[in-house]
Parts: sequence; structure tokens; C-alpha cells
Amino acid sequence: MLPTQQGTFRLFRFAGINVFVHWTWFLAAVVLIQVRSGNYSSIVWNVYEYLALFAIVTLHEFGHALACRSVGGRAKEIVLWPLGGVAYVEPPPRPGAQLWSIAAGPLVNVVLVPLLYLVAIQTSQAPGNVSELVRSVFFTNLILLIFNLLPVYPLDGGQILRSILWFFVGPLKSLKATAILGFVGVAGFLALAFWLRSVWFGVMTAFIAVRCWKGYQLAQALTRITTAPRRTGYACPACRAAPPQGAFWGCGNCRTDFDTFANQATCPKCATQFTVTRCVDCGTATPIADWSLSAPDELPAQ
Ligand SMILES: [Zn+2]
Ligand SMILES: [Zn+2]
Ligand SMILES: [Zn+2]
Repeated sequence: MLPTQQGTFRLFRFAGINVFVHWTWFLAAVVLIQVRSGNYSSIVWNVYEYLALFAIVTLHEFGHALACRSVGGRAKEIVLWPLGGVAYVEPPPRPGAQLWSIAAGPLVNVVLVPLLYLVAIQTSQAPGNVSELVRSVFFTNLILLIFNLLPVYPLDGGQILRSILWFFVGPLKSLKATAILGFVGVAGFLALAFWLRSVWFGVMTAFIAVRCWKGYQLAQALTRITTAPRRTGYACPACRAAPPQGAFWGCGNCRTDFDTFANQATCPKCATQFTVTRCVDCGTATPIADWSLSAPDELPAQ
């Protein structure tokens, strides 16, 4: 479940969260400084502008990560991309917890709007470089906010839509519906990329398309899990759900999918033994022995 850290390096660690930076930030530096070099009297101001973009994206991602933690979820890392970041958060599988973890990112940008506006008013009479920088930071934050709120999965707007739909149609249909809507968005972005002849937009569209496809595949996998018959004699020690029958567990060693409860937590191909088994319903990993103890018929009378 770890994100791909390809092309990234670790920058710092804060509140137990590792912050990784993608190499495309260097590309963004070159592009930004080239495009905007005429707006300032010295390149130093372009560097400030670039650092401000970096700070806004970082704050946004910490919004996601800290909100996820506040509802009991896990958030261990953030990968920063110039067009936004990806906070690898695992909120508890409840629509309210998901909604809060996703909405907290754009909320950071919402809070920044009046703050930056006040600074812009205060500095409107300041020398050219200062007022230009503040103006630029104000609009950068606003553009990032609007972009992230587009209802296209996996952008925040799409994920917010998914969490809201979850309240009404459950986790599966909501994910499927938003993933399909995401493909519509991808088609729109692609057309826009051609129209603008923008390589940046094209790259971003490809990134969204891949994530969208993964979301759709996840929805398909979740459907197979929910429709599978449940095994008797075992129950998750955390949520008491009986495990589904089928190859829903993957061997991290040889990548074989197998039914861990039919094989006593041992991979049938490479014989790797797993000390803990992850619940497909609540995500908690516990030793398989605890699962049989938690089976309903073997629970002590209450
Ligand atoms: Zn976000
Ligand atoms: Zn469970
Ligand atoms: Zn194996």
C-alpha cells in the first residue's frame, strides 16, 4: 500500500509525516522563473514566488494529513508535485471521516484567501516587487483552490463528491460513479490540453487518468469482495466481520493472490507465512489465530 517513491527524495519530517518532493519541482522552477522573469527587477523575487507555491502546496497536504489523523486514520507521508501533492492518507472507512480528510486540504486554501487578500491590501502601496509578489501568491492560491475543487476523481473535488455520494449509495457505487465521471473529466482536460497546446496540461491529464483507472479497478475489486460468500468460523477481532471466500489477499513476496483463510495465512506458491492478516472490511491487521477466537459461535456468552 506504500506509494511509489520513484523520482522523489525525502525533504523533511514533521509531526511524524515524511515529506517527499518529486523531481518535477526542478522543472517547475526553470519554467516559472523563465515565464515570470520579466515581472520582477531581480531573480530573487522569482525564487520567493516559487517558494511560496511550494509552501502553499505543502500546507494543503498537511491539511489532509492532520485531518485524517484527527479522525483516527493513518497519515505517514506526503509526496509533493508542482500541480498539487498527494497525501497518502488512510482515513477510517466511514464517509464522514473520508469527507473531512479530503475537504481539509482545500479548506487550507480557503483560509488563505482572506489572509492573503489582507496582506495584498496592506502592501498595495509597497514597492513594485513586493506588491507583485503578494498579488501573484494570492492568485496562485486561488487557482490551486479552484483546480482542486473540480469534481474530477481523484482531484479533491471528485473525492469530496465521492464521500457525499457514499452517504446515500454506499462506498462502492459512489467510487464507481466518481471514477466514471473522472474519465469524462479526463476527456475534457485532454481536449483542453490540445487546445492550449500545453504539455503541462497533457502530463497532468495522464496523471489523473491513471489514478482514475486505479479508482475504477478498486471499485471493481471491492464489488467482488462484497458479493463473495463469507467464511464461517472466523471473524475480524476488530470489526467482527466474517472474511470473504476467495483470493482477496496478496503475497508481498511472490505477488500471488490467494485465500489466506483457506491456507492458514501461508502463501500456497512460495510458502511465506504471514504473522498478521488484514481485514478487507476495516483494514485492521491481526494474527489469524485471533480471527478464529473471535468467530461468533465461539464468543463467550455475554
Ligand atoms: Zn488535496
Ligand atoms: Zn475488520
Ligand atoms: Zn508467495
